[in-house]
Amino acid sequence: MKNECNIIRDILPLYTEHMVCSDTAELVEEHLRRCAACRKEYERERKPQAIQVTEESAPLRNLKKKMATKRLQTIALTAVFVAVLLISAFAVLDAPVYAPYSEELLTVTPIGDHGIQITFDARVTDFNYRIYPAPDQENLYYCDVEAWSSLWDRWFSSDNGQQSVVVSPSEPYPITVMYIPNDGTENICVYGDAGDEGRITLPRLSLGVYQILALIALGITTIIWLATGKKPAIRIWVERAGLYPLSYAVSYFIVCGFHRTSYAPQRDFFLIFFLSFLLYCGLLLAHNIWRIKKEMKEINR
Ligand SMILES: [Zn+2]
Repeated sequence: MKNECNIIRDILPLYTEHMVCSDTAELVEEHLRRCAACRKEYERERKPQAIQVTEESAPLRNLKKKMATKRLQTIALTAVFVAVLLISAFAVLDAPVYAPYSEELLTVTPIGDHGIQITFDARVTDFNYRIYPAPDQENLYYCDVEAWSSLWDRWFSSDNGQQSVVVSPSEPYPITVMYIPNDGTENICVYGDAGDEGRITLPRLSLGVYQILALIALGITTIIWLATGKKPAIRIWVERAGLYPLSYAVSYFIVCGFHRTSYAPQRDFFLIFFLSFLLYCGLLLAHNIWRIKKEMKEINR
């Protein structure tokens, strides 16, 4: 009996690895049924393998988790992409198209003892005015007026009607109304004494400066990215950082096109900032999804 046990224990490692022929396996199984000591030995032999099995399932669980994350991120990415598209469309359709001056564009009529009413042509869908004391003359007010419509208004609003506004300064001084065409041509005096004739209102440059800064930042991160080719852990963060100036530059292009200046800097800045934030979220998600995909490909190999 003892002798048989020794033989069986010699075979056990092979048996647990399923590396014996069916006759030997039968012999081992028959002995294990009878012999408690060898059964115990067999259980011990099997244990390390059992641990190995759970270890193997850990990467599998990890992979499943990653696939679930990827699925969620893909859904989020789609939502962000749709939002970016909608806001881009809004930015383009809502962009002010300034009306060139013509006599029918606006009429100014006096109201009361020191007020005026400005009435715009029906083509004008939006306007802006600013009243301020004349810097070069006492007892006089200037009123700068801009008027515009947008593609959206032209295509989708059927009946705007005429718009008008009543302007009354606090003191009973005469008002000079200047129309600002915002196309690089001179401002036009439409009412009152032509005091400030020959002035041109220039577009604001500040946004163009930010765009140049964004392009510089993008250039710097590209150089760092190229320099860190052999350090993938750092490279990931360089990529994540570089995606913001990229988002900004693309958003600027969507809102302002190739112009380096803007007549409506506040509107444009708000849109660019909002759009670049959304775009950045989208690009970070896409970057993550791409990395998970790459990792899964490596695991499958
Ligand atoms: Zn035995």
